[in-house]
Amino acid sequence: MEKQRTIASEGELSGIALHTGARATLHLRPAPENTGISFCRVDLPGKPVVRGAVANVVDVQRGTTIASGNAAVYTIEHIMSALHANFIDNCIVDMSGPEPPICDGSSLQFFDLIRKCGAVEQDAEAKYFTPAQPLRVVSGGTQIVIFPNPDELKISCVTQFKGCPFDPQFFEFTLTTDAYYQEIAPGRTFVDYSDLRMLMAAGLCKGGSLDAAAIIHQGAIICKEKLRFNNEIVRHKILDLIGDLYLAGRRIRGNVIAIRPGHPRNVELAGLLAKEIAASN
Ligand SMILES: [Zn+2]
Repeated sequence: MEKQRTIASEGELSGIALHTGARATLHLRPAPENTGISFCRVDLPGKPVVRGAVANVVDVQRGTTIASGNAAVYTIEHIMSALHANFIDNCIVDMSGPEPPICDGSSLQFFDLIRKCGAVEQDAEAKYFTPAQPLRVVSGGTQIVIFPNPDELKISCVTQFKGCPFDPQFFEFTLTTDAYYQEIAPGRTFVDYSDLRMLMAAGLCKGGSLDAAAIIHQGAIICKEKLRFNNEIVRHKILDLIGDLYLAGRRIRGNVIAIRPGHPRNVELAGLLAKEIAASN
């Protein structure tokens, strides 16, 4: 019987937060079995805790935001993705502010942090979930379907990014911790230059730089180092999906077909999964 896991020791990393541009620290602490992933705003009075659950999602526009009362946590998808990929079921993520560090726009640094903390098995049985029937979300050019598969989480993803020279992109990935580290974790965030201009005009992306994302502009990709994969965009989309699906509250299994996924439909699908999980209890 596979057991639930938490981290073996505490650990933290600091860096710049994407939207506020402020310095941010993310600190991981072990958590008891059956408590899931929680975010604690240690900078706020009373240190409010927001569970990393789909019911707490309040915004999906340019990242996944959760909130409870006045406490909000932005851009949780990359740390959620690294926790899902490492099969860490229970963990408290202490936050020094509303956003985690953006790091290099991938989940590599979060993965390394979790590895450094180590993992320990707990007494309770690990909980996997695969839906009994296919679940589907669709909107505009986006469609995501998850088919039952009790054995693994396999994601086949197609993406199209306006003005991107390597377009469309396809990647198929079966989740194991080691494969994630090699194939998915290094995939960085991409932003379109016109979107970026709008975000900056709105006072957002203050911490954005070529250290934190690659920029697509007039058919070219602008980034500090060369592309890590020629299909880096689709790999990052899979990274986000693995993080958003973890909001359902279980290790997810199934065959996922994702066409042009993004946070709104990822989170909607996590919501359908959470509903099925609640009904199955
Ligand atoms: Zn992302």
